[in-house]
Amino acid sequence: MNCLGCYTEVKEGYCLKCRKKLFDKARVPAVLLFDAPKADNLAEFQEHSKRLSISGVQLKYSIWLENGELKLYDRNGQYILKPVPPAKQLINFDDAPENEHLTMQIAEQFFNIDTAANALIHFKDGQPAYITRRFDVKPDGSKYMQEDFAQLTNRTKHTHGETFKYEGTYEEIGILIKKFVAAAMPALEKFFQLVIFNYVFSNGDAHLKNFSLIRNDSGEYLLAPAYDLMSTVIHTPYESDTALDLYADDINSAYYSAYGHYGRDNFMELARRLGIVETRAARILDQFNTNKNEITEFINGSFLSEVVKKLYVSCFNDKVKRIQ
Ligand SMILES: [Zn+2]
Repeated sequence: MNCLGCYTEVKEGYCLKCRKKLFDKARVPAVLLFDAPKADNLAEFQEHSKRLSISGVQLKYSIWLENGELKLYDRNGQYILKPVPPAKQLINFDDAPENEHLTMQIAEQFFNIDTAANALIHFKDGQPAYITRRFDVKPDGSKYMQEDFAQLTNRTKHTHGETFKYEGTYEEIGILIKKFVAAAMPALEKFFQLVIFNYVFSNGDAHLKNFSLIRNDSGEYLLAPAYDLMSTVIHTPYESDTALDLYADDINSAYYSAYGHYGRDNFMELARRLGIVETRAARILDQFNTNKNEITEFINGSFLSEVVKKLYVSCFNDKVKRIQ
């Protein structure tokens, strides 16, 4: 069988590398000792937003690892567990845990994107869930300081209304990275790559709260590892291609006006505005075309249902074409 973390061949459960990353080597079974919690407190989780988004309806549970056993925890645990979302408005919702796991693995394995450790796991009753390790929790349970870009741009429900995390542009995030991160240029290039990744893999829900800065032990700000990556088009097909605009007034650019969606020109313009060298920006864009066959094979070898595999691959192909 395949490792439920990285898909390599294993006898059972998780390979050693994944056990190390996720569980500090503990032999954690790939099946939890409890059933999926009854979602009787949905109102608490479902945001009152007019925009239907996967992040607005996904349930998140806190998990603590104790003596090799994963337990539900009422406070801030070391892990976040996301079961199949209960929202009837979503399409293909049974595939949501694997969609997130697969997308995170593609980011890490093909694009070297720094990601939160993650895997697929099952409840006792067989239902799948996505599990991810919190990178802001230290081994002793204390926390690194983390601030997302809704906080960093002072946007709240109060100041910008219910859709506050969708107000703003990726350019704005980049400008703040420049301001706060000491090694700004590598961080900006990583951020730029992640914006393209989200576009190519149809993550239309990469809003202000899905990017963060984190402070290390010496108090320096770093770009936090990527989290919440998934191909949201699989579940919310009518959502816009990106959660935020690339830069102000980009829809009036020549390319967007002609085609009605972003293309290579728009990403090159974003890079120019962020001060990323043109040849480097071009190289980052070109990465997405070079591994196309291997990525398709990887998607086909994932735990997605056959229907969703086809959809995932076809959306990926369409988007790669746009940025060539
Ligand atoms: Zn593995």
